[in-house]
Amino acid sequence: MRKKMIIAVDGYSSTGKSTFARRIASMLGYLYIDTGAMYRAVALACLRRGIIKSSDPFRMDMDGLQDVLGKCDISFSNNSGAEHADTFLNGENVERQIRSVEVSDVVSNVSSIPQVRAFVDERLREFGKGRGIVMDGRDIGTVVFPDADIKIFMTAAPEVRAGRRLKEMREKGNDSVTYDEILENLEKRDRTDVSRAVSPLRKAYDAIVLDNSEMTLDDQMEWIKSILK
Ligand code: C5P
Repeated sequence: MRKKMIIAVDGYSSTGKSTFARRIASMLGYLYIDTGAMYRAVALACLRRGIIKSSDPFRMDMDGLQDVLGKCDISFSNNSGAEHADTFLNGENVERQIRSVEVSDVVSNVSSIPQVRAFVDERLREFGKGRGIVMDGRDIGTVVFPDADIKIFMTAAPEVRAGRRLKEMREKGNDSVTYDEILENLEKRDRTDVSRAVSPLRKAYDAIVLDNSEMTLDDQMEWIKSILK
């Protein structure tokens, strides 16, 4: 039987990592883990507890954070190759809330806190034990699974990414957010992700770059099939 692989898909915000990673998992019958959803769920828990505010995302109540992390149980539904999975925080389906602008505004700051990264990394390594998985994120190939069998680093022009995100949000019924707000948010997140001290976003030396600015999802699937061969 073919070895169960770990496939790491890292890259910039809104490059379509999760759609691509989910498709690969579905094709191979592997488990898919959206690691950004885990950071988003932690950020939501912090907002709800009032220990961080979207108006001041640089200030975090660190005592409160320990308490929040101690009570944070994050899980997913339908992640065995399904096209869609929901994220659960302490048993509550928070899929819609974690995609809100409020969470997007603070998530990169929350994810740059070492205690938060240690909390999420521990859970990610548990998920990866002894099974085939596809994980998408920012530091999967560099920090979480440096020995991953295949590492992909995704990028695309910011304007293309903002356009895709806008379409996705409109499809989900969000009519209030504008293209400019999305572009600004994703450029800000890129800067925070690249410049943070702990596990910054960077290409692993052995990752293969995929610039999908002008590629459809089908093109990307053909590309990964040729890599897998
Ligand atoms: O992938 P997504 O855009 O939903 O991720 C939300 C945020 O979580 C990112 O902007 C990034 O700050 C953080 N993140 C991270 N490391 C990961 C995945 C996500 O720092 N592996």
